[in-house]
Amino acid sequence: MKRRHFLASTGLLTGGAPAQAQGAPIGDGQDHGSFADPKPLVPLQARADRIIHIAVCTRPFRALGPRIQAQRLGRQVVVHNYGHGGSGWSLSWGSAQQAVALALQAHKPHQRDRRMAVIGCGAIGLTSAIVAQRAGFQVRILCRDRPPDVPSASATGVWSPASRICTQEHATPAFEQQWQAMARHSFHQFQNLLGLAGDPVEWTDGYLLSDTPFNQSGAADDDHGHEPDYPYLQRLIPELRPRSQTLQPHEHPFAVPHARRYAQLLFNLPSYTELLLTRFHRNGGTIETRHFESPREWAGLPERSLINATGYGARALMQDHTITPVRGQTARLMPQPGAHYGIRWRGHNLSVVPRRDGTLVQAQDEHDFGNADLTPDRDASVAAVQRLAQLFPA
Ligand SMILES: Cc1cc2nc3c(=O)[nH]c(=O)nc-3n(C[C@H](O)[C@H](O)[C@H](O)COP(=O)(O)OP(=O)(O)OC[C@H]3O[C@@H](n4cnc5c(N)ncnc54)[C@H](O)[C@@H]3O)c2cc1C
Repeated sequence: MKRRHFLASTGLLTGGAPAQAQGAPIGDGQDHGSFADPKPLVPLQARADRIIHIAVCTRPFRALGPRIQAQRLGRQVVVHNYGHGGSGWSLSWGSAQQAVALALQAHKPHQRDRRMAVIGCGAIGLTSAIVAQRAGFQVRILCRDRPPDVPSASATGVWSPASRICTQEHATPAFEQQWQAMARHSFHQFQNLLGLAGDPVEWTDGYLLSDTPFNQSGAADDDHGHEPDYPYLQRLIPELRPRSQTLQPHEHPFAVPHARRYAQLLFNLPSYTELLLTRFHRNGGTIETRHFESPREWAGLPERSLINATGYGARALMQDHTITPVRGQTARLMPQPGAHYGIRWRGHNLSVVPRRDGTLVQAQDEHDFGNADLTPDRDASVAAVQRLAQLFPA
């Protein structure tokens, strides 16, 4: 397995990448002068006593790719929309668009009943519900948990449409086409959400750091040995890959010799979720707490159209053992005014995301794949924060 998806999933792949990616050190590999001249960067206060929260959740990974499929169950049509791995937020709009199209296909033209039940209130359920409302459905969400107590709320919140979305062997031409459609549609939807109060979606700068030149492979690669091979899908959407720029040592404050600045699309999950909930309710949507033990229980619902957006919960609910848990943990540092930039330190298993509700520090563990343990490992987060501190020597 490769941890190189850590970078590749966001289009930040460097040396050691597959041939197609090698020509693209970061973004499209060209130096772009389109960045505004930044003010001197405020050093991040990377100290364990600034950790205010540690979140753990499991990515609902399917080697086959997400299940977006209609199924007739008695008088109902259920469209499954689950299994988005590490890309659920990023692909949410495109995936919802495809799911709702399937629901509309199954909806007979003479059928007056426009009621729909969406099972699940995470990234996929909420977005599917809004897209269904726009298509004319009257939507009710039924879910065991609602935000902020859903796994989606513990995600990082960056544009990562190719992160653990399927394995290399299942990246068929048909899948690649479906993925491209989801990624492009989602990306364009996110651009319509910029500039809103609370910054639900925003573009920020990030810094890719390395001890060795970016065109050198080897120890600096973020490879890992315990996951399957993932396809480098970002090559299919070159126009959406982040722009980047090489920096000279005097142009950045980090204690590393090599740095590139990139642009990153970021989702501030608390305010973004709030925006989705507000829009859903404003369109007449309702949310009810329900826990389903089996899909047979859906037969008792009055709605004939259903979307099943139960994420990792689908593994137990649908007995779908094609879903593999991939554990992820983030530590949130107290928000630091003025320090609003991301970091990825190549070869050091460290990623920092400048969310408005705090600076997220993330590291991967070699035992994440297949691991559904939601117990926080504080020591791992403290170690990641200490690694971050090394970039800012006193
Ligand atoms: C550490 C980490 C970082 C991540 N970072 C990113 C990122 O930066 N960008 C990105 O795009 N993606 C990211 N992801 C992936 C993303 O979080 C997931 O793909 C996404 O959350 C899946 O959303 P979902 O709506 O399918 O599932 P969930 O959020 O799990 O929602 C499922 C819903 O279904 C309900 N439910 C489940 N079972 C039942 C049942 N039996 N009966 C009733 N209700 C039920 C739940 O209560 C919940 O409401 C990350 C994941 C992790 C773990």
